[in-house]
Amino acid sequence: MPRFFAPLLLLCLTTFNAHADSYITRLLNKPVPGGVAVIDLGSAAQAPKATYQGKPVLVVKEQNNWLAIVGVPLTVKPGSQQISSGGRNLPFTVGNKKYPEQHITLKNTQQVNPNPANLKRIEGELAEQIKAYRSFSPNTPSNLLLDKPVNGPLSSKFGVRRFFNGEERNPHAGLDFAVPAGTPIKTPAAGKVILTGNYFFNGNTVFVDHGQGFISMFCHMSKIDVKVGDQLARGAVVGKVGSTGRATGPHMHWNISLNDARVDPAIFIGAFQP
Ligand SMILES: [Zn+2]
Repeated sequence: MPRFFAPLLLLCLTTFNAHADSYITRLLNKPVPGGVAVIDLGSAAQAPKATYQGKPVLVVKEQNNWLAIVGVPLTVKPGSQQISSGGRNLPFTVGNKKYPEQHITLKNTQQVNPNPANLKRIEGELAEQIKAYRSFSPNTPSNLLLDKPVNGPLSSKFGVRRFFNGEERNPHAGLDFAVPAGTPIKTPAAGKVILTGNYFFNGNTVFVDHGQGFISMFCHMSKIDVKVGDQLARGAVVGKVGSTGRATGPHMHWNISLNDARVDPAIFIGAFQP
C-alpha cells in the first residue's frame, strides 16, 4: 500500500471505533493506572457477575449490553490485565500515564513521621476505611456521570506523587477543589452513608456507597451533616468544607473507588486529562 494512504485509513478506523463504542465506554473507558476499564460482558438475560483481582466489579446495563466498570489501581503496571466473568477470562490492556510530582512543606512533622501512638491510631483508621471501600451492595448506581460535589476550580489532581518535607508518601488518591471553608458538599449520586469518622490524615470524613463498590469519600471537612445508615438522594449535603487532618488550608478532597481501587474522579465529571 502506498504510504500516503495510511493516514486516511487510520482516520476511517478511528471514526468507526468511535461509533461502535457505547456512550458509557466513550465516557469512562480510560484504561491507565488510576483509571477505569469498561469491558463488554454481552447480552445475557441476567446480570453477569465479574471479578478483578478477586474483588467484585460494578456491572451495569446499557441498551442490551452488560458492561463491567473496572477500577484500575495506581499500582498496576501498563500491559495486559484480565477480569473473570462466567468462568471466562476477559483481557484488557492498561496503557501508560505519567503523574507529576508535588512538594509540600508541613510544620507539623507528626503528619510526616508520626510517633508510635499516632502510627497505631493511623493503622486502625486505615483498616476501618479499607473495610468501607471493600463493601459491596447490590444496588445499581443512580448515575455514572457524576455531579461535581462543589462548584469551584480544581487545585490538585489525582495521582500526583507527593513529597512531604522531602519524603515521598502515598500519591494523591483523589481530586481537590479550591473552595472556601463552610461550602456545602453535595453527594454526586444517590447513596448510603457507610462510614464517618475523624481521622489523623483525612480529618472529618464521610463515605457514601453509590452501589456495587462504587464509593465516594469526602474528607478534611469542618462539619459532618450525615450519619451512618442515612440514605441520600443525589445532591444531598453531606457536610461542609474545612481543613481538618493533614491539610494545608480549606479545600474539598474527593475520592472515587471502584472494586477497592481509588481512581481519578475527573473521569466521572468529564474532566479527565490523559
Ligand atoms: Zn486532596
